[in-house]
Amino acid sequence: MRSALISFLLLVTAVSNTMTFAQTPEEFAQAWDDNHVSDKPASDVRHADLKGYLEKLNGMGLKVGLAGLSYGGREIYQVEWGKGPFKVFMWSQMHGDEPTATPALIDMFAFLEKNKDKIAWVGEMHNRLTIRAVPMLNPDGAEVFQRRNLQWIDINRDARDLKTPEGQILKKLVDDFYPDVGFNLHNQQELTTVGSSHNQATISLLAVNGRADGSTYPGFERNKRICSVMAEALARFIPGNIGRYSDAYNGLAFGDNISAWGSPVILIETGGLHGKDESFLIKLNFIAFLSALQAIVDGSAEKAGMELYESLPSNSSGMIYNLIIRNAEIVIPGKSEQASVLSDIGINRERRRAQFIPPVYVRSIGDLSRQKGLEEFDASPYYVVPKEGVMRRGVLASFLFYKKSRVIDFDSEEFEKEAEPDGIYLFGKWVKPLE
Ligand SMILES: [Zn+2]
Repeated sequence: MRSALISFLLLVTAVSNTMTFAQTPEEFAQAWDDNHVSDKPASDVRHADLKGYLEKLNGMGLKVGLAGLSYGGREIYQVEWGKGPFKVFMWSQMHGDEPTATPALIDMFAFLEKNKDKIAWVGEMHNRLTIRAVPMLNPDGAEVFQRRNLQWIDINRDARDLKTPEGQILKKLVDDFYPDVGFNLHNQQELTTVGSSHNQATISLLAVNGRADGSTYPGFERNKRICSVMAEALARFIPGNIGRYSDAYNGLAFGDNISAWGSPVILIETGGLHGKDESFLIKLNFIAFLSALQAIVDGSAEKAGMELYESLPSNSSGMIYNLIIRNAEIVIPGKSEQASVLSDIGINRERRRAQFIPPVYVRSIGDLSRQKGLEEFDASPYYVVPKEGVMRRGVLASFLFYKKSRVIDFDSEEFEKEAEPDGIYLFGKWVKPLE
């Protein structure tokens, strides 16, 4: 009985939250579709593009200030909006190859500025919140699309040491502003999954505790409620693809330390979603940010339950591959008699900018019956010949496919010329698709 009652109360809470939204998540999605400043995949945004975006925001009337310079001498900017007493601080891309939130912040500010005299809650928010954000804290890393800064230091392990100019800037901005809440915005591997499922964790959330002993306190609980609001909003678009990020305490990370210094932090990690491009992920971030901010302003963040957030399954890994070739009879040229083996092949691609073709590697050979591929291919009717002539973990995924009904001398040095393959998979693409 008790659990049924609690479930009912949860439902009522969830419904009443929805009802108090001044704007629905669907309306935020529509607003992003109709109008956004960002104009390219997040991974293709370089420092020069960011400057272009910020000029547009500045032209609209937003305050854009120089926060400092990166180790490589690139400008790090802070944007400010609102004049209220409740202080929100957001920062993106402290890891250079984790870009999704950067254009989402730009689009969020553009939306707020455009609508502050048009939409009641946005006007209310302008009076009650002050939002400061650093889009692209690590512009040098972003420029070369690497996690670390140019000193090869992980800025998110520099919260205590403060050896990086970027870490020093972040610390100073937090100290000067002393925000009520912080949003730490990252990307996680696109093959991160939700709990024991094979679903990609498209968004993972974490209310960052910041205390080594994990004991609770009001700002931490408020952030769990805000996470529930975001999870509920995102579930309209990606049900089953929302995870909870590991809450393991890290005494060197900024999230934990900023929480410990008195500004409880929410971590948002964006993963991937098969079949959707980066613009969809930017839109999800936009929806999550606005849902959270709106809930802070209209009070629904205080009323929301923590349970939805707490019930999110934890992130997992190792359960999915970009591609699994099933039942592959692998033939090594020159050694076709000894080396033929029947197995599954798990293949993953590396993270690259959208404008580059990512390298694609064999990551597992063997029984992958417990795993799923975002794409799968049953190779039963074919011999699978690795183009590199070797088959092991870490080789580039390039294969020739030959129908088993054909008689081919794989030990001939010229076999590829003598017998046209039925299919060719090269560097992650079907160059010659199988029929
Ligand atoms: Zn990160």
